[in-house]
Formats: sequence, structure tokens, C-alpha cells
Amino acid sequence: MNTHKHHTWAEPYKIKMVELLRMTTREERLEAIREAGYNTFLTKSRDVYIDLLTDSGTSAMSDRQWAGLMLGDEAYSGSENFYHLEQTVQEYYGYKYLVPTHQGRGAEHLMSQILIREGDRVPGNMYFTTTRLHQELAGGKFVDVIVDEAHDPQSEFPFKGNVDLDKLDALVQEVGADRVPYISLEGNVNMAGGQPFSMANLRELRAYCDTHDIPIMLDATRTIENAWFIREREEGYADKSVRDILREICDMTDGCTMSAKKDALVNIGGFFCCNDDEVFRKAQNLVVVYEGLHTYGGLAGRDMEAMAQGIREAVTEEHMAARIGQVRYLGRKLMDAGIPIVRPIGSHAIFIDARRFLPHIDQDDYPAQTLAAALFIEAGVRTMERGNVSAGRSPITGENRRPKLELVRLTIPRRVYTQAHMDVVAEAVCDVYERRDEIRGLKMVYEPEYLRFFQARFEPL
Ligand SMILES: *Cc1c(COP(=O)(O)O)cnc(C)c1O
Repeated sequence: MNTHKHHTWAEPYKIKMVELLRMTTREERLEAIREAGYNTFLTKSRDVYIDLLTDSGTSAMSDRQWAGLMLGDEAYSGSENFYHLEQTVQEYYGYKYLVPTHQGRGAEHLMSQILIREGDRVPGNMYFTTTRLHQELAGGKFVDVIVDEAHDPQSEFPFKGNVDLDKLDALVQEVGADRVPYISLEGNVNMAGGQPFSMANLRELRAYCDTHDIPIMLDATRTIENAWFIREREEGYADKSVRDILREICDMTDGCTMSAKKDALVNIGGFFCCNDDEVFRKAQNLVVVYEGLHTYGGLAGRDMEAMAQGIREAVTEEHMAARIGQVRYLGRKLMDAGIPIVRPIGSHAIFIDARRFLPHIDQDDYPAQTLAAALFIEAGVRTMERGNVSAGRSPITGENRRPKLELVRLTIPRRVYTQAHMDVVAEAVCDVYERRDEIRGLKMVYEPEYLRFFQARFEPL
């Protein structure tokens, strides 16, 4: 254990191999973003200098994880690596049953199809794009029950991921508990800026759900990061380990979906877990249809081995100190420069408040999308829109949802970039901020039906 954890976030590793980056000119980047329809998701990786598009599947694996790849048991059935993974997940997350999937949305698909019936309402502490879509495709309707503070980028509330039990109760009173198949509880809520829930809130939620016989299904994607914040901010947890807090969270829930591409330090992978025999049997059966046999779920044996090792590394104090420390380093630099960002600084990304950065651009002219394109042009820094484009249209009115949060996400991959890279990013943001008045919005010229943010195309106004 790193005894200096309260003083420095210095990386608990050294570099064994490097990946060379390509530098581009402003003209090349202008051409690249035009070709990509001003959508950073459509730009090519080779045109990117610092890639903050996502922390999903972009982690650097350790020497031990790479060694694990060589231990891949590529048998169709009963791979040794599946049993390693199962044992690791049972040990650290504590659920009884594990079904591997190719990534998080594979697990969401299984869970939604199994638990949701037509017309059900699924409450959650803010939506996530793929999570909500799978709920809708299964005939459910997502209902946001996160605390109001989560929708206010300037609120310093330490647990913006908390569930508002009054909102949940209002829903249960309205439709009846039997129309609420489960509550979807996300750790370190991505769309709110990587904001944690507290253990006190989870305890209250557990008591409420027990009374009404509603399961709690955890989106465990960034729950190790959530555990870190509980340790740091919640009374009574300062002396507990991240590992123990993670387990305490999972023990209060009934199952989870997991995108292992985040916390678990792998490039691909996910899983579904539960404690209920019947739900497990159904998931084991359904996974065969959509992912692969229940002992590989769309993954190679080596992927499962790397995931098992990644989980063991992810729960260490020194890894988490460096992870959170690096994100905070960038966040504080931007705050000191007067850049409007979501507060408090979350775990996996810095979210720029595009409404305040570009107040002259109407939300239907997509300020966050515009800012993401500008950052790419400025310095080859690739970021992602999390605002009006990501939120999509209301299925009822067909209008843009115009969410309260209109954000650009600067997502930090785990163990990939240095402090000097973070300095370059901060400089680029400040340079764009200086000339923000010159920036005009975008109009959408192509809109796909599902998850439009991935493939939509834009033109400058
Ligand atoms: C990434 C993510 C997912 C979906 O996982 P994929 O591995 O991308 O399919 C679900 N929930 C949250 C909170 C995520 O961040």
C-alpha cells in the first residue's frame, strides 16, 4: 500500500512500452472534422493527438494482464479463464452468479429482456444512453429519480448520484410497485459528471425497496470509483478499503450489469450478475442467443483472463489514487483558468459546461457538439458531446429533449496519458475559451434512428 496516498497521485507503475502519436496541422484537422460531419465519433484515431473521447476500452493493460492473454484457454466450453473470472467477480463483487457478455450493453440487453414487461417503468439515478435504450426496446419507460442537484452543474453537493426517494415513491404510488421491475442504480453516474451515491442513500434505498419488493440492479461500470468517493467523503468510511466498500455496495444490491471496459482496465468485456436462481437461468439461456455460450459470452478466453487480473488491480488504493488524482489535476487547472466545468470534479472525466462556455449558442444549435469540434480543430484533442445530441428526441413529442446538462466530456483513459498531456489539454481549452465569441453553432444534417450521437452529421451554421 502506498503510504504517500494522501500527498501525491504519482503513477504506481513505470512505462515498459510506448505507442507513438502522430502530430497533425490545423489544416489537416479542419479537413478531418469536416469529413467526419463535425462529429468526433466519426473522426479517425490516426488524426487524433490526445484522445479523450472515452474511458471505455481505452485503458492501458499491465504486464500481468498482457501475460494473462497468453494464458487464454480458447476452448468453446468451460474455459479455465471463465472460472478465474467467476471466482474473481464473486470475491470482489460478491454476487452469486456471473454471465459474461461482450461488453456492458450485452448485459443490459439480457437484463432488460428478462426483467422488463411491456408498459413497466424503470426508475434510475439518471439515464445512460445504452441502458435506457435497452429498457425501451424491452417495452419499459425510464423514469429519472436522481436528486435535483445532479442536474445543476454548479452545485457542490458531494453525492449527486443519490436517488431522491420522494421521486421514487411518487412513481411507485402512481403506477404501483408491480409495474416497477427494478431500480437501475448507477455508481459514479456518468451522465451527471461521474458523481457518486452515498452509502447512506443506498441503505435508505434498500430499506424502501425491501418494503415494496423492488430489486436494486446496479450499473457497476464505475462502482470502484464510487467506492473511492465514499471513502473520501462519507463519515465512517475513512478507514475502510475501497475493496471492502465495493463489496458493501454490491451486497446491498440484487445484481448488476458491468462494462468492464471502464473500472476493470480491459479493452473489451462485460458481465451480468445476479443472486436469483430463476433470473440466472434465464440469463444463461438468453446469452447463448445473443452473445455466445454462457462460459464465454462473446469474449475470448484471454479477454476473461485480462479482466480477472484487471479487477484485482483496479481495486487497489494506489491505482485509484492515481486515477482520481490525474482527473483532478486537469479539473483544477481548468477551474483555476475560469473554465466552467461540472463541480465537484468527478472520477472519470472533466465535463465542460457548454451552456456557460458558449452562452450565445442556442441549445438546438448544439453548443456542446460545436465545442467538441472546436477542441479537435484547436489541438487534435478528441472529446465527446453529452448534451442535446446524446439525449435524443422525446418518443412522445418527437422534439429534442434539450436536457439541463449540455456538456463536453474530456474523458481520461486509465494509465494512458501523462501530466504533460493534461497540460496540453488545458492549454487547448483555454485557447478556445479566449476566442469563444467567434464560434458559431451547428445544424444536424443526418440523424440516425438509434443513439444518434454516434453517427449524426453536422454542418456549420
Ligand atoms: C459504458 C457504459 C455502459 C455500456 O457499456 P458498453 O461496454 O459501452 O456497452 C453502461 N453504463 C454506463 C454507466 C457506461 O458508462
